[in-house]
Amino acid sequence: MAEIDEVLARAADGGAISAEEALLLYTEAPFHPLAEAADAARRRVIGDNIVTYIIDRNINYTNVCVTACKFCAFYRAPKHEEGWAHPMEEVLRRCGEAVGLGATQVMLQGGHHPDFGVEYYEELFSSVKAEYPELMIHSIGPSEIAHMSKVSGVEIGESIRRIKAAGLDSIAGAGAEMLPARPRTALAPLKESGERWLEIMEAAHLQGLESTATMMMGTGETAAERIEHLRMIRDVQDRTGGFRSFIPWTYQPENNHLKGRTQATTLEYLRLLATARLFFHNVTHLQSSWLTTGKASGQLSLHLGVDDLGSIMLEENVISSAGARHQSRLSELIGLIRSADRVPAQRNTLYERMSVHWTPEDDPTDDRIRSHFSTIVAELQVKAV
Ligand code: SF4
Repeated sequence: MAEIDEVLARAADGGAISAEEALLLYTEAPFHPLAEAADAARRRVIGDNIVTYIIDRNINYTNVCVTACKFCAFYRAPKHEEGWAHPMEEVLRRCGEAVGLGATQVMLQGGHHPDFGVEYYEELFSSVKAEYPELMIHSIGPSEIAHMSKVSGVEIGESIRRIKAAGLDSIAGAGAEMLPARPRTALAPLKESGERWLEIMEAAHLQGLESTATMMMGTGETAAERIEHLRMIRDVQDRTGGFRSFIPWTYQPENNHLKGRTQATTLEYLRLLATARLFFHNVTHLQSSWLTTGKASGQLSLHLGVDDLGSIMLEENVISSAGARHQSRLSELIGLIRSADRVPAQRNTLYERMSVHWTPEDDPTDDRIRSHFSTIVAELQVKAV
């Protein structure tokens, strides 16, 4: 117990803790002292009680994918009758709708289409930038970069240089799932290794393309493997400083080949958030995923080191296809932040605060801004009627 108290105090003060110490906190620290230390670390790093959110839209350009991850309910194999790829005009139309609702970011996300090389992504990003220069493109991940490089027969560094020049502003942390080898191989045997995922991130950071880092928990990985995932990210961050935030989320079990496996419990999720805040002395922002864990735990997470409640995603299909059904209006999300005794603020991709809602009179009131409309789930529901 004395050891746990000492590690908590050191981490809350910004001191480095080892992976072994993080595992000790994650598995054995009493909940309230763990939460208090994480909250103290958040205050020290962020400097105030502001909690940010962003308005964005996930736009999927194709669901065709050759990688067949076992947890994925979104993809269809090439030539599958339910496979699709949206024409550029449709992607741009959805971007326009998002801009009309105040979105500052788009997350263009899709499968590893066998024909989509670097040229496709150059056209995608440059078309969006040409039409909507005010939108920041926070999209794809190392897996897509590896895939497009293979399709086009170019080096990873060359792909990064070209997609950055075409307009990609920031790399999403997609495709991290679990980075340690054992759980990663079980989940996504055809995906690049966790080390390779990090190497590509490092290469992007070194070219000035920053990113976020994510983690999907709840598919049977051990507590030690969860902490190892954090360690692998922290080591790269020590060298590059290119991860703006860390965003863990919980696996959703519907419509995929892992169906039936246990999800992470809410308590495990909250403890992981607090441990991440204490372990990542070098990552500024910590985001919780209310989309996968629900609004109540999203609100509670604000007392466990979290300073960002993520996105009002105007559209989301990937996680929704696997069963995530939590939805919110912007006004409700802001209410959650305010009633957790925090001050809400809208941010952009770079975590710059665009508008701080110091008092309830400052809150946006546009009720059209609501989250996670899934075009795919909506179509399925219409068919079921
Ligand atoms: S998670 Fe991504 S790479 Fe894996 S099958 Fe789904 S769309 Fe393909």
